[in-house]
Amino acid sequence: MTAADLAPLIAAGDRRALARAITLVESRRADHREAALTLLADLARLKRQALRIGLSGTPGVGKSTFIESFGLMLTAQGLRVAVLAVDPSSARSGGSILGDKTRMERLSREPLAFIRPSPSQTHLGGVARRTREAVALCEAAGFDIILIETVGVGQSETVVAQLCDLFLLLLAPAGGDELQGVKRGIMEMADLILVNKADGDLKAAAMRTVADYSGALHLLRRRPQDPEGFPKALPVSALADEGLAGAWAEMQALLDWRRANGHIDRRRAEQARHWFEEEVRQGLLAVLTRPGPARDAMARLGEAVAQGALTPEAAAAELLAGLPS
Ligand code: GDP
Repeated sequence: MTAADLAPLIAAGDRRALARAITLVESRRADHREAALTLLADLARLKRQALRIGLSGTPGVGKSTFIESFGLMLTAQGLRVAVLAVDPSSARSGGSILGDKTRMERLSREPLAFIRPSPSQTHLGGVARRTREAVALCEAAGFDIILIETVGVGQSETVVAQLCDLFLLLLAPAGGDELQGVKRGIMEMADLILVNKADGDLKAAAMRTVADYSGALHLLRRRPQDPEGFPKALPVSALADEGLAGAWAEMQALLDWRRANGHIDRRRAEQARHWFEEEVRQGLLAVLTRPGPARDAMARLGEAVAQGALTPEAAAAELLAGLPS
């Protein structure tokens, strides 16, 4: 089956074709890459958009339980939901965060849902590109909502924030001193902080944690993309399915405001520019690292610098001048 065959099937919402297309964009083979780019360009003409929701949280906080409950709530409303993952650590841990078959079992059986495990790739840039392209494919396939999950490690939140319209941070109930455990940068990215496990014995601690974060969020500078009162911290229980409808209502209120004020379109335009520049950067790096004249020049000039025959600056200038411009 060629990329040209896949396009109409994806446009018609065929999940098998969608899965095959994601495999195609993940491939590193040059001919696959070419086919993937043609397919993506073809499908971009449909100009379909989904609501993209990013979700971050440390392992064990309840991300998969949340996605299952939240996803089922959305599909019960007739919405089509796709779940993707950005998991740069998967190669290291030997399994992807979404690879475990027991995760999101009920959601995975739901005809309106599509769950795609994260591929194992160490390189965050590669995972980011693959996720971005998978998002585009899911949009073309007519999904209403795309949930992009990431574990709270390293730079992956930043990648997800650059892919989504709305960013959720999932936290567990904690003692007051754990507030510092969440990096300020991540908190600043969040549109909603959801304190999960607000049930049973953990409920009181969860409510205290919500109060702590509400206080901390009030101290942050108000962002232009937020109406009064956002970002917000809310208690939820993914397991007991409590607070999810309320959280969804808050998300919709925020999105309505952002849409009315042009923030969604502006953010997408900025994101597109960001990813274009990132592709160019990655492409230039690839020129320097794959076998060829640029890599040879890099080795030769590096040696000259090491020997003291050239200054680092002069050698860099010589190398850059030799690159095709
Ligand atoms: P993930 O690693 O972030 O995907 O977390 P999981 O969804 O796998 O959940 C980790 C553990 O927390 C599991 O044992 C869940 O049953 C439990 N858990 C998840 N959500 C809740 C919740 O709302 N309340 C309680 N009490 N436990 C939860």
